[in-house]
Amino acid sequence: MISLKDVKAARERISKYVHKTPILTSKTLDSISGNQAFLKCENFQKTGSFKFRGAMNFLLSMCPDERKKGVVTGSSGNHGQALACAGKLLEVDVTVVVPEDASPAKLAAIEGYGAKIEKFGRTSTERLSRAFEISKETGKVFVPAFDHPWIMVGQGTIGLEILEDLGHVDAILVPCGGCGLISGIAVAVKEQMKNVKIYGVEPEQSNSTYLSFKAGHIVELKDINTIADGLRTASPGRITFEVVKKYVDDVLLVSEEQIKAAMVFLLERMKILVEPSGAVTVAALLFHKILPRNKRVVAILSGGNVDLLSLCSWVKEVKQQQKEFW
Ligand SMILES: *Cc1c(COP(=O)(O)O)cnc(C)c1O
Repeated sequence: MISLKDVKAARERISKYVHKTPILTSKTLDSISGNQAFLKCENFQKTGSFKFRGAMNFLLSMCPDERKKGVVTGSSGNHGQALACAGKLLEVDVTVVVPEDASPAKLAAIEGYGAKIEKFGRTSTERLSRAFEISKETGKVFVPAFDHPWIMVGQGTIGLEILEDLGHVDAILVPCGGCGLISGIAVAVKEQMKNVKIYGVEPEQSNSTYLSFKAGHIVELKDINTIADGLRTASPGRITFEVVKKYVDDVLLVSEEQIKAAMVFLLERMKILVEPSGAVTVAALLFHKILPRNKRVVAILSGGNVDLLSLCSWVKEVKQQQKEFW
């Protein structure tokens, strides 16, 4: 089990490489949500998502001999980009296994950081088994996207920054995929202030953490259908779920329509560009998924890497409904 001490050590390791991201506020968001809201903007982190923190901490925690052999991962998105960028900074050879149908923009981003790309299969299971194979054949170390203590404590450094900047807060809303992000933050925060509530947020149509949390054991999903591509995980990790069980207070669900509306709100009212996975927490605030009012609530905006053409179509959809959301 990871501890606050481990998160603090990660902070020491990565702080000169990562941005301390800003925390933004909006009176409009406060009045719609009925709370005092603080947005922790990891969409402004290097590579456009918090994943850079975990990736940096992983590479910096490896022993130098291992690092020389290089690393490998299977990811189509933010983890691949983050690891590629971390590898470039630390001169570590990085291989990223991506799906055959990965978007050209994502491939360009990964290649732009100088990582090697190998296309394989379509599903994450196929990608991961290919990455394991490469690891076995070449001695390159496999870097998981969430289920590893080094990744978890790297992401947890966000929790330290929140308490440093805001002092007392009542609740923190965190998007959940494999739960590396929420488990790191939960440890960093609960082990300093046990009364701060930690809420996970998931799309209704990719609710494995919700189901697992309610059941008390890991539940795997077969059908996943959400625009939040960073949250399309079949289940929480084995290591991360132990922390979720111990520290997370509840898991909240938001609909696809609510995610899109939250993205439009952030863009139009606050001039902030987030990807769907990063907007679920603001959707939870806007659509009153937490009941207590007048609290100091932090929403993690986990990333900002979004395909602009898809964004255009979502904006159109929200606008054409001509519905008063708030
Ligand atoms: C990976 C990712 C998540 C989910 O993080 P986990 O550690 O897998 O729970 C959320 N938002 C964005 C933008 C991500 O890239």
